[in-house]
Amino acid sequence: MSYGTIIVLMGPPGAGKGTQAKRLAAGTGFVHVSTGDLLREAVRNQTPLGQESKAIMDRGELVPDALVSELVAEKLASGTPRGGILLDGYPRTLAQAEFLEGIRGPRPMAIGIEVDEEEVVRRLSGRRTCAGCDKIYNVYFSPPPQGACEECGCGEMVQRDDDKEEVIRQRLKVYRNQTAPLIDFYRDLGRYVAVDGSKRIDAVTAELEAALQERVG
Ligand code: AMP
Repeated sequence: MSYGTIIVLMGPPGAGKGTQAKRLAAGTGFVHVSTGDLLREAVRNQTPLGQESKAIMDRGELVPDALVSELVAEKLASGTPRGGILLDGYPRTLAQAEFLEGIRGPRPMAIGIEVDEEEVVRRLSGRRTCAGCDKIYNVYFSPPPQGACEECGCGEMVQRDDDKEEVIRQRLKVYRNQTAPLIDFYRDLGRYVAVDGSKRIDAVTAELEAALQERVG
């Protein structure tokens, strides 16, 4: 068993948690774990978990705590990677945060990427994923050059079912009601730090790296 640090990346949908977690994982020893990605994989593979989760995710609601916590527990069953773990999209409820507190090892640290809601709606409604390699583009800010993916050359870009505007509004409502209270949860424990997510991607990465340095050295 090894017990690397767990960093909880917080922030509303569209704050850039996934994009930033991938960048941080590439530049450090951290392993990126996204419960949204794990659930979408379960949906694609039509596992029992995927079948139970699909309609819930398409409505922009939360998959039950027990199911998601089991996924995370499976990931952490052999300890947290020594280089540390970046949790993206988990915990999203108080029950999940309490579950995470029960995991052995150093206490999780939370870093919040703060962005205002209208910006988030613009980002999410423009988001497209390359069907070939899952690279993320945005039709407004960072469209694929000549319409094809710069990583794999694939010309097919897909929009997530839950990135339609009415579902985005629902996801933001769920975030406000169920997930935002976790900011106070971690702040009260002295384990919350915020970065400004409205800046350019590189600037946010630099702030996150600085926050990580400060927290875990
Ligand atoms: P994400 O990619 O993090 O935006 O997650 C996409 C969807 O997966 C969410 O809108 C939820 O339906 C579901 N999901 C992801 N993580 C969790 C979680 N920790 N708890 C409950 N549902 C989740």
